[in-house]
Amino acid sequence: MSRFLIDRFQGMEGYQLGEQPKNREYIKLNANESPFPPSPLVLASVTGELQRAQRLYPDPACTEIRREVARLYGLPMEKIFCDAGSDVILGYAIQAFGGRGCPVCFPDVTYNFYKVCCRTFGVPFHEVPLREDFQLAVEDYRGRRGCVFIPNPNAPTGLTLTLEQIERLLAQDRDRLVLIDEAYVDYGNESCIPLTVQYDNLLVVHTLSKAYSLAGARVGFAVGSEAVIKDLNALKDSFNPDSISTLSHAAGAAALRDQAYMRRCVGAVMETRDWLKEELRALGFTLTDSHTSFLLASPKGISAPEYAKKLRERGILIRYYPQPRIDGYVRISIGSREQMEHFLQATKEILAAL
Ligand code: PMP
Repeated sequence: MSRFLIDRFQGMEGYQLGEQPKNREYIKLNANESPFPPSPLVLASVTGELQRAQRLYPDPACTEIRREVARLYGLPMEKIFCDAGSDVILGYAIQAFGGRGCPVCFPDVTYNFYKVCCRTFGVPFHEVPLREDFQLAVEDYRGRRGCVFIPNPNAPTGLTLTLEQIERLLAQDRDRLVLIDEAYVDYGNESCIPLTVQYDNLLVVHTLSKAYSLAGARVGFAVGSEAVIKDLNALKDSFNPDSISTLSHAAGAAALRDQAYMRRCVGAVMETRDWLKEELRALGFTLTDSHTSFLLASPKGISAPEYAKKLRERGILIRYYPQPRIDGYVRISIGSREQMEHFLQATKEILAAL
């Protein structure tokens, strides 16, 4: 029996969403999910939709969500694409713009999904090492063919590029697509979506899984030139087995409509993040300057996997990456203040028992 695709993954660390164990209650700080429920408008909208339109297939053009995004950024709907989570959109982008002679370039270290997805579709890729202290230098992408994928802020380092740096990257080669994955942009950073007006080679991808508390609904969107969006639509129209459901569509549009609620949730996460950062520094941890909803931290006096294991025994899940450069670190998602106080207490107990 042929195992063509399976063989591509031999010896490779896969892409994991972060465990979702069901055997007991955990404090889940391993998947960067929001600690808050979605906006109350989401519940109202989904309930209304349940009564009305479950009988019909969903709107493949995701008109309502695209209308909200267009309103939010003051852009025409033709520049906006929407589908079932940003991973789906990233997958389309890899298939549309990567290929033979056209590698997908991304940093080493970054979001693992890019590599896994390239392998899945047999698309060549090129990893560009980060500099000292995990800094990304846009000059390292000069002259590279193919297309470039960069999360801003990067994950799991949490570090950001300025809009000026992104512009320099875009200007290096206006025929090369640059995809900026803004999954964590809402946590105190500036979006580069306005640059899509000047740069036809820019595609910006967003998710509603983090700041909008809709990880389970699976909603993402992308903004780019009409030509790039047309290419994504061509792929989606040909093969789209997991298009966004009617309920998720209603949820996504309602969440986007309630910007004030999103800002309040994000503000609370950022406040807790900055407080925890200082507490962990005081315990001797090394941390990056994360501008996201998570911290990348290297514990003192205990290895990263051992620390993650001991937290797990205490009912707390965090993320450990067994891969070069970051294997001394763990990624801690920022939960509610109460959850993080519990986490800090558990950390102090673990360190005290060493
Ligand atoms: N990009 C980055 C950088 C992420 O960390 C994640 C979430 N793990 C995603 C994209 C995917 O988000 P979604 O839930 O929309 O597929």
